[in-house]
Amino acid sequence: MLNKQIIGALNDQLNVELGAAYSYLALAAYFDKASLKGFARWMKVQGQEEMDHANRLYEFINEREGSVELQSISAPSQTWSSPRNAIEYALTEEKEVSRKIDGLVELAAGARDHATEAFLQWFIREQVEEEATINDVVQQLELIGEDNNGLFLLDRDMGQRGAKTVEA
Ligand code: MG
Repeated sequence: MLNKQIIGALNDQLNVELGAAYSYLALAAYFDKASLKGFARWMKVQGQEEMDHANRLYEFINEREGSVELQSISAPSQTWSSPRNAIEYALTEEKEVSRKIDGLVELAAGARDHATEAFLQWFIREQVEEEATINDVVQQLELIGEDNNGLFLLDRDMGQRGAKTVEA
């Protein structure tokens, strides 16, 4: 059984993950509009991963006899000044998600809820992976600078990337 505060926090996190999926969809639309189809495809893959994160929370809340309570999802940012600006935005968002997961872990530890703490370990590893992956793309865009050839090559590479989820 979960205590009320933890159920509330897990439901908040479910909402955060759905919000992240929505953000990635907005990023996909930005890249599709710029005809950077590889980036757009990768953003959609990222969005699917966020849906998977939301679903993990959904299953866990049910398993622990809590109630899933869905909240509103606000409209995400939808305009960026450049591909690099858009990717940097994605990195900032992921860092914010990591901070929220850390807060959840602290809450679970404080409540001596070991099951929830153990459940969250996967999310911690996943966030490390996400931040590292996106940080690499930021670095690559920095190297590319204003070189359109480089951007096209990276776009092709991004389009071939699949989901990079950490092992359960
Ligand atoms: Mg996530």
